[in-house]
Amino acid sequence: MTELSKIFGSMVFNDAVMRERLPSEVYDALKDASRSGKRMDIETANVVAAAMKDWAIEKGATHFTHWFQPMTGVTAEKHDSFISNAGSGKIMMEFSGSELFKGESDASSFPSGGLRATFEARGYTAWDPTSCAFIKNNTLYIPTAFCSYGGEALDKKTPLLRSMEALNKQAMRVLRLFGNEGVTSVKTTAGPEQEYFLVSKELYNRRKDLVYTGRTLFGARPPKGQELDDHYFGTIKPKVQAFMAELDEELWKLGVLAKTEHNEAAPAQHELAPIFETTNIATDHNQLTMEIMQQVARKNGMVCLLHEKPFNGVNGSGKHNNWSIQTNTGMNLFNPGDTPYENAQFLLFLCAVIQAVDDYQALLRVSVSSAGNDHRLGMAEAPPAIVSMFLGDELSAILDAIEKGEEYSAGEKRLIKVGVHVLPRFPQDATDRNRTSPFAFTGNKFEFRMVGSSMSIASANIVINTAVAESLRQYADELEGAEDFNAALTALIRRCIREHRRIIFNGNGYDEAWVAEAEKRGLLNLPTTPDALPYYLEQKSIDLFARHKVLNETEMRARYEIMLENYCKVLNIEATTMLKMVRKDILPAAAAFSASLCREAAEKRSMMPEASCRYELETADRVAELTETIYAKAAELDRAAACTGDKKDITERSMYFRDVIIPVMEDIRAAADELETVTDREYWPFPTYGDLLYSND
Ligand code: ADP
Ligand code: MG
Repeated sequence: MTELSKIFGSMVFNDAVMRERLPSEVYDALKDASRSGKRMDIETANVVAAAMKDWAIEKGATHFTHWFQPMTGVTAEKHDSFISNAGSGKIMMEFSGSELFKGESDASSFPSGGLRATFEARGYTAWDPTSCAFIKNNTLYIPTAFCSYGGEALDKKTPLLRSMEALNKQAMRVLRLFGNEGVTSVKTTAGPEQEYFLVSKELYNRRKDLVYTGRTLFGARPPKGQELDDHYFGTIKPKVQAFMAELDEELWKLGVLAKTEHNEAAPAQHELAPIFETTNIATDHNQLTMEIMQQVARKNGMVCLLHEKPFNGVNGSGKHNNWSIQTNTGMNLFNPGDTPYENAQFLLFLCAVIQAVDDYQALLRVSVSSAGNDHRLGMAEAPPAIVSMFLGDELSAILDAIEKGEEYSAGEKRLIKVGVHVLPRFPQDATDRNRTSPFAFTGNKFEFRMVGSSMSIASANIVINTAVAESLRQYADELEGAEDFNAALTALIRRCIREHRRIIFNGNGYDEAWVAEAEKRGLLNLPTTPDALPYYLEQKSIDLFARHKVLNETEMRARYEIMLENYCKVLNIEATTMLKMVRKDILPAAAAFSASLCREAAEKRSMMPEASCRYELETADRVAELTETIYAKAAELDRAAACTGDKKDITERSMYFRDVIIPVMEDIRAAADELETVTDREYWPFPTYGDLLYSND
């Protein structure tokens, strides 16, 4: 065994450990429970719990925790030690099946959007046997779902699991129509490519904006940004290299399939791509990845910034959510197959995604909405706030041909007829891949690129899974009753292409012209979170989630509140931080600098009465003007921020933040950034963009 394979998964209660440590009937019961989602009996759970505890204690664990994903976007945990009182001053190490199954926690300080008033503060965490327990910091972590006393989901995992089940159900109906004897279930897969920045911890600590908000609220652009494209895939600096090596190792121990590490487009920006896994596991692992990244960075004297837009004018960070559907027999449903039947099936599943993205554009946009991601979507490097789909020229041409019933030519001429012909393979060519599309077909999977770097991938996958389940439900309804399956299939595929072709766009999503073109096509352009969120509560959205039992209306209304509350809270923290920096750092620095300029001018004149002193006096003048602007705008921001509480309605409040608070903040920033460029380095109160972005060199 190599070192690496010894390390990998060494802290995970995985299949191999279970096989080794559980009696075979218990092992089978556990596997069955994790496949079927059915609860196992308490005796069996007691055996599993005891085995988990023994294993964990051998690995040095002293505590256990139910680990869950409340709607804050980060994970939560509450540690209990294994000890219990054995009498006569002795302790025993205990962990029972019921402790494994269920935890009760005072959930009142997690966001619930009014679902759980504080007087009924109990929330439950329930073991999710589909995701393996693991050990971190001497604690046994048990992945769980989190719900209210009344059973409403208070987390991101519950609806994700429900959406996977919905997709499984509908996909199986369709797969049966194509034969597929051996297939008994499908799962969606996800491979989230995680972008992040690394900056020096020492410099970070000197920027209150980074500390409090995760992004810079001020900062003039450095002379060199990313225009030379020399950072992307560039040589990895030794400090970063050391970080990546340690990160990989820590992740491997936890069974996370960290695979590719490289530099990204912006200076100090990097990416980690794991090997894809079942969506539920991939989501858990991505949460762990973000957490471990931050820990390892700090150990290495750096801070990992996961914010979507830490630096204005510099590429932001996203998370490309690669998504596909896999059968229990290992078949990827988005691989065009070798037989005409497999190809017809591929085309139908492709249509299901095209239709899902078109029908539920708004929900996809909602699923990636946050104050942070608003800064990124639509900026130079991120996919625009308009949802569209890239299929590539070849696949688009094939769909055209099918729609028109025409001949498709690619090299050799052939007529593509659904269910009769074999499709060509679509090369996964990295060189000419469209990088600007929000939702791209990349050979055998889709890549949803609008997800923000700090977000859980759960929300996006909940929408993708459920929307695709809905397309498949409609197809199954139609095809199950068809007299001539092939004719009905061809007609359905043609109709789907015709009705949903507007969502397909293979051009440059950053192009100005696309905005106008998208509008002509009737596609939604929702640049901000308050623009997008109201679509979440449209009847169409409520119906979708209700029909597939993913979220009920009460749960959705709660989520709506939470998302907008979060938007307002983030902006409020940013506004407060900005005011603090203006008054404690920027204005005093400007005053000191301009005083020194005046003193120097006076001194110079006393020695050289004829000296022009243009630099000193004109700069002092400009500094005075900018100071005046910043001072006045800060007072305006103060007044505006004081009024936010008057807006009792959350929708109204979010719009107030967008329309009143953000513009004043932008004005303050513009003036402060200009001030930075004219101020002597000695006086500027915090590290600049240049300092931060090149701090690991
Ligand atoms: P890129 O060029 O965009 O970086 P890669 O080929 O490196 O693309 O893959 C990106 C991600 O896609 C990886 O995390 C990979 O595991 C994931 N991926 C590959 N196949 C699938 C699949 N069938 N389902 C989900 N994710 C997948
Ligand atoms: Mg990618």
